[in-house]
Amino acid sequence: MSDGQTLKASGPVAGAIFLDRDGTLMHDSGYVSDPDLVRLLPGVRETLLALREAGFLLFLFTNQSGVGRGYFGMDAVNAVNARLSQLIGDTDTFFDGMCIATERPDEPSRYRKPSPNYILETMAALSLRPVDCVMVGDGRRDLEAGFGAGIRAIRYFGDIDDEAAAAFAKNHAMESISYFGSLLDCVRLPRTNT
Ligand SMILES: [Mg+2]
Repeated sequence: MSDGQTLKASGPVAGAIFLDRDGTLMHDSGYVSDPDLVRLLPGVRETLLALREAGFLLFLFTNQSGVGRGYFGMDAVNAVNARLSQLIGDTDTFFDGMCIATERPDEPSRYRKPSPNYILETMAALSLRPVDCVMVGDGRRDLEAGFGAGIRAIRYFGDIDDEAAAAFAKNHAMESISYFGSLLDCVRLPRTNT
């Protein structure tokens, strides 16, 4: 499910950052459905504001199988996302667009990560070059979605150890997976293959 919003970058677009939600932007306490439980991870607000200032479009790309599993409804997801937006940008609609993949892992899915479809469709719709796009997430599925779309994928904070990451990178013909201690370093990513 995607929910396009008005693009908020002013001036030339530097690229697009696709952002996982739980464990990347906010603490992952497991199927978060209460907006009062939203807690930003350190540096997220400053980083995303700086990314926007630098001309990057910012897209939220989140698997929310709690909906498909019947744990909570879209109203709860929307409330959590609105709270997240408020904490980052003092608005309910901070992001330039979002994809909320509600499917369970055992059912067919168009958008649930590791599917790269949301990234591919967004890049096509906005005529974005893969080299200008980055997927940032804390989990293997986030990285797989990014690589599947042919863009860089950055593990920011996560649930796979270095050994697993190295094996994953090898399987994807990548010399290494980028690690960043600060999301803000995304702004300074070297451009390659231009
Ligand atoms: Mg995550």
